[in-house]
Amino acid sequence: KLGNETIKAELGRASWRLLHTMLARFPEKPTTDEREALKSYIHLFARLYPCGECADHFRLLLEQYPPQTSSRDAASQWGCVVHNAVNKRLNKDIFDCGTIADKYHCGCAEEDEKKRK
Ligand code: FAD
Repeated sequence: KLGNETIKAELGRASWRLLHTMLARFPEKPTTDEREALKSYIHLFARLYPCGECADHFRLLLEQYPPQTSSRDAASQWGCVVHNAVNKRLNKDIFDCGTIADKYHCGCAEEDEKKRK
């Protein structure tokens, strides 16, 4: 049982990291197609997330907090808010969403180039 909890937590950390990093790299001015892609991704993520009880709760959360796709900032803040809703349910600390813009980096060449400019 303890082993399963550890694996579930690892999966959660990895998943949140991927999700927040994707949102931090989402276009500042997304096209309609990009907005649709993100919305679909999030709904499919909620549908296919391999921890069943987590996915069930997350799908309910999406009804309460529909994915925000109008900009990078809107998407990142949305990600922070839904993660905080999960934190709250699990009695974890609430994260300060004001600091999220500096936290998630992809480590990709493109990003490094931008920083050098
Ligand atoms: P995590 O919550 O994994 O967070 C990792 C790091 O992200 C933190 O250390 C912090 O630096 C940062 N962070 C924290 N909050 C935020 C935020 N709001 N915005 C941005 N960054 C933040 N586990 C269960 O036991 N039951 C569930 O029902 C459940 N549902 C889940 C649903 C989803 C969609 C996901 C992705 C995970 C779910 N998990 C669930 C796993 C759980 O959320 C945690 O990932 C896991 O418990 C490990 O927690 P942690 O304390 O290491 O930090």
